[in-house]
Amino acid sequence: MTNETRNKIRESKRIVIKVGTSTIMYPNGAINLKQMEKLSFVLSDLKNQGKEVILVSSGAIGVGLSRMNLTERPVTIPEQQAIAAIGQTELMRLYSKFFFHYGHQIGQVLLTKDVTDFPVSRKNTVNTFEQLLYKHIVPIVNENDTVSVEELDHLTRFGDNDTLSAIVLELTEADLLIMLSDIDGFYDKNPMEYQDAERFDIIHDITDDILDLAQDSTTKFGTGGMITKLNAAQIVLEARKRMVLANGSDISILFDVLKGKDVGTLFSTE
Ligand code: ADP
Repeated sequence: MTNETRNKIRESKRIVIKVGTSTIMYPNGAINLKQMEKLSFVLSDLKNQGKEVILVSSGAIGVGLSRMNLTERPVTIPEQQAIAAIGQTELMRLYSKFFFHYGHQIGQVLLTKDVTDFPVSRKNTVNTFEQLLYKHIVPIVNENDTVSVEELDHLTRFGDNDTLSAIVLELTEADLLIMLSDIDGFYDKNPMEYQDAERFDIIHDITDDILDLAQDSTTKFGTGGMITKLNAAQIVLEARKRMVLANGSDISILFDVLKGKDVGTLFSTE
């Protein structure tokens, strides 16, 4: 059954790929150029295979800190937003350079949560994605840190890119979300703490029992943790689409996922 479902992944035409900061930054806070270049190469090759790809990339703050030679995240929100503004530009400059090298063009899409609440905003966002994909451009998405807030009746923050990537899948009606993290998949307990933890090959439903297995885990740079990945999986399953959580330490894993190989954890209702 799993094999059959895995095989169906091969047919995915429109794919959202989400990378966490830990995938594109070294633990010492410097940019991992090798990973960024590899990611741009693999996604460009997938484009050449005829797939439509959308990248959701974290890293604005991490890259901003590195650009400004800072080792610690500033404490105030204005300072963090300034760092994100600097980092986002640098992040896109690097992606633009690498994708261009492999013959592809990128387009930046910065979103806030309210785009999904208002029909015209939603429509405009969908139109932008459709137009970019139609023109064979790779949309690179992030939260619009400068304007996103959480205030009384004005909620515009996604808060984490796991949720954002699931919403991008929903908006673009993509077939598959591949979420790259620092772990081989979803386990029955935190594998960083327990050596005997076992990976789930497939999960059909995000039950309370499954949610209980996700431990609080936010890494130095990441803001998501396993809970937000499961929340994202829930959105994907409700949309009757598929998600694979896999380890981004070797970016070629994207080829394996798309070949239907048994890597990572597949979330699918089938
Ligand atoms: P990213 O920065 O890539 O978004 P996170 O650090 O937010 O990733 O989440 C991945 C981490 O979640 C893993 O490194 C692991 O320590 C932790 N974790 C907690 N519970 C589990 C579990 N049941 N299965 C897998 N990983 C888990």
